[in-house]
Amino acid sequence: MILAPTHPLLSKLLEGSPNRAELELKLAQMRQSSVKTEDLATAEKVGFFTGRYAANPFNNEKIPIWVGNFVLLEYGAGAVMCVPAHDQRDFEFCRKYGLPVRVVVQPLDAPALVAEKMTAPFDEHEQGRLVNSGPFDGLSPTEAIAKMTAFAEQKGFGRGEIVFRLKDWGISRQRYWGTPIPVVYCPKDGLVPVPDKDLPVLLPPNPKLTGMGESPLAATPEFVNTICPRCGGTARRETDTMDTFVDSSWYFYRYCDPHNDKAPYDSAKVAYWFPIDQYIGGITHAILHLLYSRFWCKVMRDLDLITHKEPIARLFTQGMVLKGGVAMSKSRGNVVGALEMAEKFGADTGRLYTLFAAPPEKDLEWSDQSIEGCWRFLNRVYRLVEKHAPSLRSVGSWDFDPKGMTDEERELIRVAYKTMRRVTQDFESRWHFNSAIALIMELTNEIYALEPLEQKVRPEIRKEVLRILTQLLAPMTPHFSEELWEMMGHDDGLWNAPWPDLIEGQIELARDEEVEVVIQVNGRVRGKLKVSAGIAEKELVTLAMAEHFVSQHINGKRVVKQIFVPDKLLNLVVA
Ligand SMILES: [Zn+2]
Repeated sequence: MILAPTHPLLSKLLEGSPNRAELELKLAQMRQSSVKTEDLATAEKVGFFTGRYAANPFNNEKIPIWVGNFVLLEYGAGAVMCVPAHDQRDFEFCRKYGLPVRVVVQPLDAPALVAEKMTAPFDEHEQGRLVNSGPFDGLSPTEAIAKMTAFAEQKGFGRGEIVFRLKDWGISRQRYWGTPIPVVYCPKDGLVPVPDKDLPVLLPPNPKLTGMGESPLAATPEFVNTICPRCGGTARRETDTMDTFVDSSWYFYRYCDPHNDKAPYDSAKVAYWFPIDQYIGGITHAILHLLYSRFWCKVMRDLDLITHKEPIARLFTQGMVLKGGVAMSKSRGNVVGALEMAEKFGADTGRLYTLFAAPPEKDLEWSDQSIEGCWRFLNRVYRLVEKHAPSLRSVGSWDFDPKGMTDEERELIRVAYKTMRRVTQDFESRWHFNSAIALIMELTNEIYALEPLEQKVRPEIRKEVLRILTQLLAPMTPHFSEELWEMMGHDDGLWNAPWPDLIEGQIELARDEEVEVVIQVNGRVRGKLKVSAGIAEKELVTLAMAEHFVSQHINGKRVVKQIFVPDKLLNLVVA
């Protein structure tokens, strides 16, 4: 059992302890360096044994009571029953302090867990059955939770409860700006909401801003004094306004219907656009804005204003740009100016560099050397196109006919199409622009390796390969690529050209190699399949399902999720 460092029972528990002074000191230190909620998962886990024991009310087993910095008083009761074999934080804590790890859920579809040998907790709870749990052995965790709760209620030592992470939230502010709270106070009727027909309540245009810390609206009689919508007598308006967090919780709904002057939005328009496909933001939004947005969504759903249950389908948390290991900030004076970089290397080099330096979910450590590398790479591409463009301007497009191709031509076109396919995958699935750029750099190297190109590769294929190189670069270096495009004689604008999709003849030319893909069912390796590189997910699933080593584990069950890492892995999750 682990208690929060601020748990009120602690002083009583430490009373009479032979090393009380030492423990009190540890406790004081732990309270001082309290861990923030958002850092809980990653912070170093620290704790100590109180010397006291609790009785497990389910079986009267004596269990040691510890204090841990990762247990919060405000979450639950500030006391948690440690389940190290099945929870990441508990596992780290118990391994660090050499506490026993007891397996209480055994996986259904894998070798039995041995506590001493575990290197990570087994937390796919639903894929297991209870063990070492007395009368609850053999139940699924969901069944066990219901039965254990009933048992606790029956014996009178516990009850079921739903835990909400959203804390109470005071939304009013004594400010002029902000959305007025649409209620009036009537001496006779009390608090009366402003009727829909009188909405929105508008702020007075000229409040007195005294700078004295009082509410400016309260000092504006023409705003405050009004009549009661219920009885018609004199009444006072609410003079607090809403916190800006209120607006940020729902403003994006208004984007669907910005000119509506009768309502916040038309539900049918919101139903057409929502939920938001993709949210991109910093981790700092995760505990406030995103929670409030979800809360607001659920309130509006309960009021029948919307029909969806979640406002956002996917969240992507991007990393930060660091310099010298810390976030760039004006106060630290470690900011690299975008204009300065643009003047020195060009804006597109800056774009390419920020995408190349790290995948978007990771922090990026700024490096002057690396931006220079990107600049040199773009120069290499420019020289290549500059050299070949004059002879290719009037050349038509290639018909993808592989007949009569030289070895060099075949190799070059294979690499180009392969790069095209992989870059597209990086864009669409993983957003790993850094690996996409690395592939384009490789393609450029391959082209250089065949120089002088004009002696070995016919003009149509040269033009095709340079076209692909230019198009693949375009999302990262739009202006630079547009220039190359024009140099090669295209007069219709690269911005206007569709993204290159591999068509049948090209797929054939790109296909050269076989890869071995690992096939898993519920995260356990069941076999490997030799397939052609770049195989599509759907195709691979069909092939995998046809294999006995897969089908025997699926055994008629429904595939609820599939995890696909191109050319490497397919994991089929069945329920
Ligand atoms: Zn009234």
